[in-house]
Amino acid sequence: MTSVLVINSGSSSVKYQLVDADTGERYASGLVERIGDALGRIQHRSGDTLDERELAVPDHAAGFAAMLDAFARAGATVSELGISAVGHRVVQGGSEFVAPTLITDQVAERILALGALAPLHNPAHYQAIVAARQAFPDVPHVAVFDTAFHQTVPAAAHTYAIDAEVAAEHGIRRYGFHGISHLVVSRRAAAYVGRPVAELKQIVMHLGNGASACAIDGGRSIDTSMGLTPLEGLVMGTRSGDIDPGLMLHLLRAGYDAAQLDNLLNKRSGLMGLAGSNDFRDLLAAADSGDAAAQLAFDVYVHAIRRYLGAYLVALGGADTIVFTAGVGENSAEVRAAACAGLEWCGVRIDPDRNAAASREARRISTDDSKIAVLVVPTDEEAEIARQAWQLVSG
Ligand code: ADP
Repeated sequence: MTSVLVINSGSSSVKYQLVDADTGERYASGLVERIGDALGRIQHRSGDTLDERELAVPDHAAGFAAMLDAFARAGATVSELGISAVGHRVVQGGSEFVAPTLITDQVAERILALGALAPLHNPAHYQAIVAARQAFPDVPHVAVFDTAFHQTVPAAAHTYAIDAEVAAEHGIRRYGFHGISHLVVSRRAAAYVGRPVAELKQIVMHLGNGASACAIDGGRSIDTSMGLTPLEGLVMGTRSGDIDPGLMLHLLRAGYDAAQLDNLLNKRSGLMGLAGSNDFRDLLAAADSGDAAAQLAFDVYVHAIRRYLGAYLVALGGADTIVFTAGVGENSAEVRAAACAGLEWCGVRIDPDRNAAASREARRISTDDSKIAVLVVPTDEEAEIARQAWQLVSG
């Protein structure tokens, strides 16, 4: 029995998938939303059927009850289906969690304590972990951390040049995120080009609502664009990415408080801040119809990608692959073409037809004679969480 229930929880939502850890096959998936509101909602997919209903979901425990109910309505209870583990995605593992970890009471408490570094994520993970352990008391629960893959980043790349004592006291360093995605995508890219991951220098661009770049040398992360929090680095759907920290001091002196800055930089910046939408499809349509703000947002977005591309080509001493993944990276030929434009001098040649062809499979969008293979590789964080959780519990 290799099926793993994968949980990706937020403060008011729980996404779940029942995945075969061996094959990555998805048996069922769903989303419980608006936990804590007067009326919540659950969507449950199994096979081709979608079961959608509204109901009161006062807390995460009620969310898991709704999920169990949805499985039963779809034809088989979770215990009839049989699961060997529950895999929890945890955004912040700090410096202490460097590998998938069996969740005990103490581990759950440490995940909660790391909420000081990830207030939007870890407290919500904790609530979901408590509720899930009550709902599934007889199977092992495993935490898989988004930060763990970046523990190999050398000190020169993960240290911020601020007072060392202040940094130590507050746990301030670059942790990096999206590690589960960078890991699975770099492995799939290696499989696609038919070479061992240990031999490859790879740059992965994870471009979703959140976005980050990662330089991977022989399968190990050596630099990444997100930092202490998932706010640093590339321009994102609603997050600013890199800014001068002096900008925050300037606004603090102008009367902003921490909550307002948080809201500005996490929710009202990025594509949303520049062009009024965080949906890349809207942005492309608006830019195409001559909207100057949308065009500027596109240009700023691509500029940030190219900065990191340049930095990581130097950090790695060249690259064998450049890999695009996640919603924008997998779907926007425009972004890929603009990000790679004019790079023939360093061995990047995009084939426009290959780039324009839509597909859900891993594919090469560079020409056969391009020295660097430019690839599109769909990410699958849930399959990777299931694989890691299963690997841990099966010894
Ligand atoms: P999340 O970080 O929420 O998992 P995704 O990886 O799903 O995000 O990416 C969401 C982004 O991908 C959105 O900006 C969305 O507009 C964009 N996207 C999805 N499909 C397309 C498409 N066909 N063309 C361009 N952008 C797309």
